[in-house]
Amino acid sequence: MELIELSEGRARFILRGVSPAFANAIRRACMAEVPSLAIDEISIYDNTSVLFDEQLSLRLGLVSIKADDLGLFSVPEECDCGGAGCPGCQVGMTLSAEGPCTVHSKDLRFGDAGVKVAFEKIPIAILGEGEKLMLEGTVTLNRGTVHTKWQAGTQCGYKNLPEIQIGEGCDGCEKCVEVCPRDVLVMGEGGGKPLVTDPTSCSICKLCVGECEVGAIKVVPIEDVFVMKIDTDGSISAKDLVEGAAAEVKRRASSLSQQLSGLA
Ligand code: SF4
Ligand code: SF4
Ligand SMILES: [Zn+2]
Repeated sequence: MELIELSEGRARFILRGVSPAFANAIRRACMAEVPSLAIDEISIYDNTSVLFDEQLSLRLGLVSIKADDLGLFSVPEECDCGGAGCPGCQVGMTLSAEGPCTVHSKDLRFGDAGVKVAFEKIPIAILGEGEKLMLEGTVTLNRGTVHTKWQAGTQCGYKNLPEIQIGEGCDGCEKCVEVCPRDVLVMGEGGGKPLVTDPTSCSICKLCVGECEVGAIKVVPIEDVFVMKIDTDGSISAKDLVEGAAAEVKRRASSLSQQLSGLA
């Protein structure tokens, strides 16, 4: 593994010597198998805004919520309380507002000081003069396989790393440089053949290949090398998401191995 970029919300890295199935397993686990927090159930006591209760519920469900220590929470079905609801699997949430104002995600109040919204400026509703919102609900931990509101990985994808070869037949016409939409190719100081800047940015569109009249450029995907790009919804860091996904793939592989050895 070779890290290209790591920020709170994004990880880009190269995986070498793996199959497409393995790269896809990591991607899928990032999308749906790593638990995150989301507002689950709400009780609406007052809603005189222009939004229907269902629209309000949907918006609240999609607000990304993070915790200082996510490890303190369990998925309800896996909690010691058996899913009945306790501080280990449930956090209370309230929202109370009166117009005129715009209600934002930062106006949500949580029963645990370590739980907060990932982004404070998500608009929930615009309240006119005298319009009110009053509701309470619960935040729970769960997986994207149960509902997309618990899907911590948003844009998760992979592609083969390409090998870009420029042969001796190149006459330096620059056409491939001009056509490349990602600026992967540049001409060197003294002219000559184009240089490859960053092959991880190449989308393997092969526009450069089509433009080269002398057939001097080749873009060949390397079959067992993948560029992974993982974005999160802010409820969990990209590092924790990828680590969680790898642990989940490992756990499943161990479980399968155990079951297979039991058959032998
Ligand atoms: S289009 Fe072909 S000939 Fe022209 S610079 Fe690119 S590789 Fe060389
Ligand atoms: S395949 Fe597409 S992105 Fe890659 S170098 Fe060629 S034109 Fe650029
Ligand atoms: Zn519990």
